Amino acid sequence: MINRKSRDEIKKMIHAGHIVALVHQKMKEVLEPGISTKELDNIAMQVIKENRAIPTFLGYSGFPASICTSINEHVVHGIPSENEILKEGDIIAIDVGATYGGMVGDSAWSYEIGKVSPEVHKLMLTTEEALFAGIEQMKPGNVLDDISKAIESVANREGYGIVRQYGGHGVGHQMHEDPFLYNYSVGDKTLIKSNMAIAIEPMLNLGGDDVEVASDGWKVTTKDKKPSAHFEHTVIATDDGPIITTKL
Ligand code: MG
Ligand code: MG
Repeated sequence: MINRKSRDEIKKMIHAGHIVALVHQKMKEVLEPGISTKELDNIAMQVIKENRAIPTFLGYSGFPASICTSINEHVVHGIPSENEILKEGDIIAIDVGATYGGMVGDSAWSYEIGKVSPEVHKLMLTTEEALFAGIEQMKPGNVLDDISKAIESVANREGYGIVRQYGGHGVGHQMHEDPFLYNYSVGDKTLIKSNMAIAIEPMLNLGGDDVEVASDGWKVTTKDKKPSAHFEHTVIATDDGPIITTKL
């Protein structure tokens, strides 16, 4: 069942989303060659705690950290590690959730470390564009497939792979609520209504669609080892247009 949020719940979601955005702002400041993903996790945790929120990811299905860090060919769900050090030319997707007043904000952003290749830079720009194309369709009266189609058409324009096994999702009291949102058209005619909240999160690959889960049971990697980018915002549909809770 897809629930619609009350005014009070929306207020708390905007607060939670703001804290998530603060984490991303901090990540942008500290990202540089030589930093480990474990250090990033510690810093993210600090920002979440300072703002009296709960790191949503920590302990979720047993996940051991406050953020997911997925470098280059890693798509999602990477576990931060002190042995994983960023270097010039990498891209890293950082996914973070914060819970405030019982409500969740969920946002992932991909960052370039120093200078990346032109083709990877284009993948980054295009995946971000696909996110905003999807957000534009998040309005009452549209159906879920309108969001999926918008994301898919941006990806297809550049010939990028679209990760099939993961996608967007309802969000609110829980990080993952109904509905599931595909990043490609499956003809889902579920109606979008005002005060529904969905985390929209395209994952696009420079190569093919296929991904696999690493032996740690978490990290998802492209099968062809080509880079993948991931951008996500938590979005609430309203009659006055979509509210992005996870931006400053
Ligand atoms: Mg996320
Ligand atoms: Mg999500």
